[in-house]
Amino acid sequence: MKIVERLMFLVIPSCRETQKLQSRNLDEKLSLWRRSSLWMHCVMCGWCRRYGKQIKFLNRVCRDLPECGNFEKGEGLSDEAKGRIEKCLCEEKDKG
Ligand SMILES: [Zn+2]
Repeated sequence: MKIVERLMFLVIPSCRETQKLQSRNLDEKLSLWRRSSLWMHCVMCGWCRRYGKQIKFLNRVCRDLPECGNFEKGEGLSDEAKGRIEKCLCEEKDKG
């Protein structure tokens, strides 16, 4: 293995490490070193690029939902959401 390839292997994280970093990157500010290594991996790996886009999308969608916002605050579901679930359950129970 050439010296450049060895260095790349040491600097660039594996797919598994990259996915963990991508998740952490949504919750906390990673160091410049971590963000750089994440970026370098994603330049070369289409799977991790796609994974990163998907978790960013899910994170954004979840934050927009008031029910999820309550979970993040530890407050559980809103009364409105509980009412909707209860109504659906009652309708299902009445059907069969
Ligand atoms: Zn990857």
